[in-house]
Amino acid sequence: MKTFCPRYPAPTRLIRSLFVGLFIAAALAPAAGLAAAAAPANDAAAKTAPLHGGAVTKVSGQVFETQLAPDGVRVWCYAGNAAPANVEGAQGTVKLTLADGRSLDLKLAARKPAAGEPAIYYCPMHAAVVQREPGQCKTCGGMKLYTQDYLFAAADLAKVAPNTAKAQVHLTGLDASPAEVTFAPTFAAPAADTAHPKAGS
Ligand SMILES: [Zn+2]
Repeated sequence: MKTFCPRYPAPTRLIRSLFVGLFIAAALAPAAGLAAAAAPANDAAAKTAPLHGGAVTKVSGQVFETQLAPDGVRVWCYAGNAAPANVEGAQGTVKLTLADGRSLDLKLAARKPAAGEPAIYYCPMHAAVVQREPGQCKTCGGMKLYTQDYLFAAADLAKVAPNTAKAQVHLTGLDASPAEVTFAPTFAAPAADTAHPKAGS
């Protein structure tokens, strides 16, 4: 009859030490949880970036705001926590079907807010840092805040009531997962658009 190799602990001892380890871990876990809760949670309270009166669509954990403005289509991108998302490198298309019979295939490209357009500034590292004025992120120790860029396609939509239009938006190269999305925003009542009075002029 074979005996246990003395180099290894007896199974019972091994199991007992495992249980002791688990017990200690279980005892420590609540304390660790409390410590984590007490620590400042940088991005737990993400600020919601102000919207622009466009149609908000949630797609695969990301949020998109699509606006039909007199000078064209704008799409703002947000992370799932509603913090502004970086659109550098993103592009896309938007297919518009208008009530006047026009069907437009437009190309969306990233751009900065034009002069006169209200802009939003944010820290890509700290979702709680979202403001209307340029500045620096104090949490980062002085990093210059990003401007919230958006995707734009020029088109003459001056006589288009958004709620009479149908749109299909396709975006690629997003700084998120998935990097490619397709969605059809639903436009509500005609937007009283005062956000971009001078844009495109
Ligand atoms: Zn920061």
